[in-house]
Amino acid sequence: MSPRKRSTKSTRAPRKHSSTVKESKASGKERASAVETPTENLVCVAFSDIATGDDLCVQLGFYGFRTVLATDEAQLLRAVTSAVRVVLVVELSALDNGIFETSAIRELQKGKERPVRLVVVSQDDGFDLRLRAVRAGADAFFPIPIEIARVSDKIDSLFGQNALDPFHVLIVGDNPEEISNYALMLQQEGMLTSVVSDPRHLLSVMIESKPELILMDLQMAEWSGVELTQVIRQLDAFIGIPIIFIADDSAGLETRLQAIELGGDEFVNRPVIRRYLGELMKLRAARSRTMRFFMERDSLTGLLNHSNLREKLAAEMRRAERIGNELCFCMIDIDHFKQVNDTYGHLTGDRVLKSLSRLLQDRLRKTDVVGRYGGEEFGVILFDTTLAHAERIMNEIRESFAHVRQQAQDKEFFVTFSCGIASYPTFSLVNELNEAADRAMYEAKQRGRNLVCTI
Ligand code: GH3
Ligand code: MG
Ligand code: MG
Repeated sequence: MSPRKRSTKSTRAPRKHSSTVKESKASGKERASAVETPTENLVCVAFSDIATGDDLCVQLGFYGFRTVLATDEAQLLRAVTSAVRVVLVVELSALDNGIFETSAIRELQKGKERPVRLVVVSQDDGFDLRLRAVRAGADAFFPIPIEIARVSDKIDSLFGQNALDPFHVLIVGDNPEEISNYALMLQQEGMLTSVVSDPRHLLSVMIESKPELILMDLQMAEWSGVELTQVIRQLDAFIGIPIIFIADDSAGLETRLQAIELGGDEFVNRPVIRRYLGELMKLRAARSRTMRFFMERDSLTGLLNHSNLREKLAAEMRRAERIGNELCFCMIDIDHFKQVNDTYGHLTGDRVLKSLSRLLQDRLRKTDVVGRYGGEEFGVILFDTTLAHAERIMNEIRESFAHVRQQAQDKEFFVTFSCGIASYPTFSLVNELNEAADRAMYEAKQRGRNLVCTI
């Protein structure tokens, strides 16, 4: 049979978990309307050889990516329009004179808000081939045999570049008309805005809406921007949030210096030029987001670090108490990880850690929290989830992970993990819950590893 005759494969990665009967019904509906509701991230593997393309789909699926195989342009088009962000993995020989025209791929990119990114793989390597890939619009080039872990890292970073959520700006001033005008300007530049025209509500709005940046009138009738900056900086949570002032020429050097000394960042003079304001706010917000990311997250996996995961656990337990919900805390520890490092080297070990981190993030809901607890230990908070349901979810992930074909140079191997789960309110203090999950994990190790135990 000609490989091209085969129809598109269905999307592979299992659905994210839903924890209640109500949610299950809702997700049933979502499935029914899957055509109108595009999935977020999709890897479309466009190969002329079905067996190789299929194998790549399966392997990327184990790494947590949603994948689909396309063997002709119609399938490619369907796949590309079915997701918000798409990374296309194409075999070089399938481009031009093969089954896909480069021009068609370029055409596909045009209609999308977030451009389709292109990864080219090739049977051979060499300058001419790499140049051909670049001319086809490739973001990356990998010779066959493909190192899945490296391709996965690249796909991750390509999705990441397209995944920027809009920045959230809080605008503070006592002239409602003026601040709504700024809000409109920033919205036109793609940002989300909240406004405060009575500074007495400033702190509550900040706590509620968690802005990433503040744009504030420096000279208000009853309050000064300098005073409000001091009030904001008294709160630890907002010590680093950038504050940009809108000022008149009448704001002299002394006032401006004082504003900077007390924690303000920059000035924009009236009349405000929309493009200048927009670019300045974006640059500042991006830097602040990056800094926050590095402060809160583990550099290898991008997951929450130990202290932030513990903080989040405490906050989620308070929320569960308020609403009267259950939650589960799962401790995951990779089995015989020392042996992985000793046999294949530390860098390969790092890639194993990343593959588990990606799998966890992809399989869990946005509302679940994943963190790196320590070296090869991870912690997961499943909100509004019973112990039995959490056990099912973690068992599914455990099985998927055990199938991920890990690679080290020319060798392949498999890795497993053990997991312990404890639930709130059975264990109602952070330490208790944490220790209980740890005991359950220890039991899983004792009982032979590659297991999920509950307590
Ligand atoms: P067990 O099944 O009992 O958990 O055995 P194990 O070998 O996984 O347990 P052990 O705690 O003895 O080993 C953990 C290893 O994890 C030791 C350490 O070198 C390694 N490790 C910790 N952090 C990192 C890291 O960031 N990268 C890599 N590659 N290895 C790490
Ligand atoms: Mg350990
Ligand atoms: Mg271990």
